[in-house]
Amino acid sequence: MALEFDHVTKTFALPSGQELTAVSDINFKVEKGEFVSVVGPSGCGKSTILSMTAGLYQPTSGIVRVSGEVVTKPNPHVGFMLQKDLLLPWRTIVKNVEFGLESRGVSKSERRDRAMAELERCHLKGFENHYPYQLSGGMRQRAALARTLAIDPDIILLDEPFSALDAQTKLLIQDSFAETIKEAGITTLLITHDLAESVIMSDRVLVLSERPGTVQREIEIGLPNREHPLARRQMTEIHDYANEIFTLLKLDRRAA
Ligand code: ADP
Ligand code: MG
Repeated sequence: MALEFDHVTKTFALPSGQELTAVSDINFKVEKGEFVSVVGPSGCGKSTILSMTAGLYQPTSGIVRVSGEVVTKPNPHVGFMLQKDLLLPWRTIVKNVEFGLESRGVSKSERRDRAMAELERCHLKGFENHYPYQLSGGMRQRAALARTLAIDPDIILLDEPFSALDAQTKLLIQDSFAETIKEAGITTLLITHDLAESVIMSDRVLVLSERPGTVQREIEIGLPNREHPLARRQMTEIHDYANEIFTLLKLDRRAA
């Protein structure tokens, strides 16, 4: 099992002395190579789930396992990507991709080889000596993906990585990410507000409730072509799935 949440609850102590339970009794499993999206209302604990997977936060109760091992500290085999690409502006693209390898004691020549291979995989060959400001938003996100893949992660965590892109770039980048990730066979957890995106990108969608977030439904996406979200977009079934998720979220809001 690539990732497992076993009765996970996370409560934060606030400066006021009060407590805030972000997520409550979260249970789910992700198989190796699976692509799972997480949707839910703002503040229901989606980012908290990613932070616990990466080992940045510890659960208050319950257990998080990555590749069968209990997560107790920041895990170097978990790659994290956010809405902002966080590329270092003073480094070239290839030096940005090498960045994560420097702290791991990988030799200079191996760093360069691995970074170049990832740039090629992410269709950025020829841009290695550019600086981030010279690239479009979509290309910068691909460079950030290359940097994430360079550490050879077991899992990648994506926290709304496409939400700052314009509509057309977003379509192309979703396709490019999906294909690259599928080819690499990497397990992925994607947080998104975009219900159609969750359907076209994923094998499965976890629908969370309002805070404290809990998994209210797991929806298996029975559509072919996961590696080509653009092709999936043409399929009428995506509307049925998106409507099903929308109804769950809406019903939950009325109950709140
Ligand atoms: P989402 O990503 O679904 O919008 P988050 O996981 O960011 O939600 O946050 C869930 C809840 O936990 C929010 O109410 C947020 O204010 C709170 N929260 C998140 N991180 C912390 C923290 N480090 N300390 C205190 N409260 C936090
Ligand atoms: Mg968030």
